[in-house]
Amino acid sequence: MANSILSVKVLQIETAAIAWVEAQVWPEGPVCPHCGGFVRIGKMKGRATRIGLYKCYQCRKQFTVKVGTVFEDSHIPMNLWLQAMYLLCSSKKGISSNQLSRTLGVTLKTAWFMSHRIREAMRVVGVTPMGGAGEIVEADETFIGRIEGERKRRSGWGHKNAVLTLVQRKGSARSFHIEDTSLGQIHNVVHDNIARKTALMTDEARHYEDVGQRFASHETVKHSADEYVRYTGDYIGGEKYIVSTNTVEGYFSIFKRGMKGVYQHCKEKHLHRYLAEFDFRYSNRIRLGVNDVERTERAVKGIVGKRLTYR
Ligand SMILES: [Zn+2]
Repeated sequence: MANSILSVKVLQIETAAIAWVEAQVWPEGPVCPHCGGFVRIGKMKGRATRIGLYKCYQCRKQFTVKVGTVFEDSHIPMNLWLQAMYLLCSSKKGISSNQLSRTLGVTLKTAWFMSHRIREAMRVVGVTPMGGAGEIVEADETFIGRIEGERKRRSGWGHKNAVLTLVQRKGSARSFHIEDTSLGQIHNVVHDNIARKTALMTDEARHYEDVGQRFASHETVKHSADEYVRYTGDYIGGEKYIVSTNTVEGYFSIFKRGMKGVYQHCKEKHLHRYLAEFDFRYSNRIRLGVNDVERTERAVKGIVGKRLTYR
């Protein structure tokens, strides 16, 4: 018999799941989410006590590992949360709420709620600029879905949502839902998110011209002239210095296949959450040495401090 990952204890037994999440979130032992104390903490025992309940004798409040995380206020067993996280982390194009609902045996509403909270856990916060000396970052835009209230037009992109993505070669991706592809919008994202010493690569679009001058170099490929790859004969960081935006376009192709095939598009106000999901999987992909289980561990570490208030 094959040893299915889905049969492991942390995905099947709630106590094992809670202990595992505690180990990810509190590597040094439990920390009180109310006062930050970690010395005088006792585990609550007794048959009527909730699993994983602690008491802080500094502030006299009780807590579980769910407090202050995206799991807070949910009654979904932790092993089910981990099953959902594993599925979302290991499916390259994502997993629909319908599929999640059938697989986990929860209502569609619960599945939708869970997947949005997991996307929030995947969202990267407080990041430093990408790239750096000897690194290449590609930037490009794409268009997806339709802006609410805009009629579909035969040509042009005005009725669609604009996305700007930055991808570091052999590294991570960062995507932004931007208002439009005006110079100002693009300038700010590129300026704030890429380190000055980076080699920037884009297509020949005018909106990269000015901001491009702020980087170590700015090379462009002329898509209008059918140029997609230009071999320079130079080297950067020990690798061939090849001018192209094929990496970021590869990202877009995964994103679009997921949005069309799995999510069948989404509301404009949720687009940034789906971008966070695709960025997360891409930035923690197998080619960077991150397997499905490690990717899930990383997502679980992201549950802290992101309690959502909407529903
Ligand atoms: Zn406390």
